[in-house]
Amino acid sequence: MVHCHKTETRVCLFAPRRDACNEGRVTAKKQILIIEDEPHIVLGLTDALEFEGFSVVSANKGKDGVVLAKLHKPDAILLDLMLPDTNGFKVCEELRRWDAFVPILMLTARSQEVDKIRGLDAGADDYVTKPFSVGELIARIRAIFRRAARPNETTPETFSIGQTTVNLTTHTLTRGGKTSQLSFYEVELFRLLNERIGQPVSREEILQKIWGIDGNPSNRTVDNFIVKLRKKVEKSPDKPEHILTVYGYGYKLAP
Ligand code: CA
Repeated sequence: MVHCHKTETRVCLFAPRRDACNEGRVTAKKQILIIEDEPHIVLGLTDALEFEGFSVVSANKGKDGVVLAKLHKPDAILLDLMLPDTNGFKVCEELRRWDAFVPILMLTARSQEVDKIRGLDAGADDYVTKPFSVGELIARIRAIFRRAARPNETTPETFSIGQTTVNLTTHTLTRGGKTSQLSFYEVELFRLLNERIGQPVSREEILQKIWGIDGNPSNRTVDNFIVKLRKKVEKSPDKPEHILTVYGYGYKLAP
């Protein structure tokens, strides 16, 4: 069964957060798709996201979620790992077959690194482990749209790393005559590293700016993403020449 939450115009009785209700008045609302079978989580997230000025659609089965994603073309997707009809990894792979770019955050009761890596391989961008704080999740979603909405005048649309050309506008990467699609987080990570080319960028800054997570040294999200990017641009991903590790700090892009 598919639930569609009709969005409504909300009056901000409280001091509105900068880009919540205000943004909703001038631009189309960003839409979030929730694929999750636990009704209280769907309700809680829907309320919180609508209050923040997003519109929300939700499905409690993976199959329905894919149908809704194709129908609504949401701006971001929250995807539960354990669904009644299938698992989130499979849903994620299917979503990625038709949209390489849309940010996908997995909601999961598990926190094992192996699951995170499997999720990233399936095309997920981030993990939120249950029970999670709604405030933290919203901070992550806000980070997505803050980055996506930022002015882009000084940044070149394409840049080269070794034999690879990255196009930030078309979200593609070309290497050896082959072009592949990049996800939102991959584009943003490339963009941030390229803005500071030749200089180290700390893990904490990357987490904060791209994932909207306050620096947590045990968080492996950035490192896992770097592994993905290296596979795309490095001749030998184990001996990187372009996406360099700055030990105990973060990463640096070398053209
Ligand atoms: Ca579930």
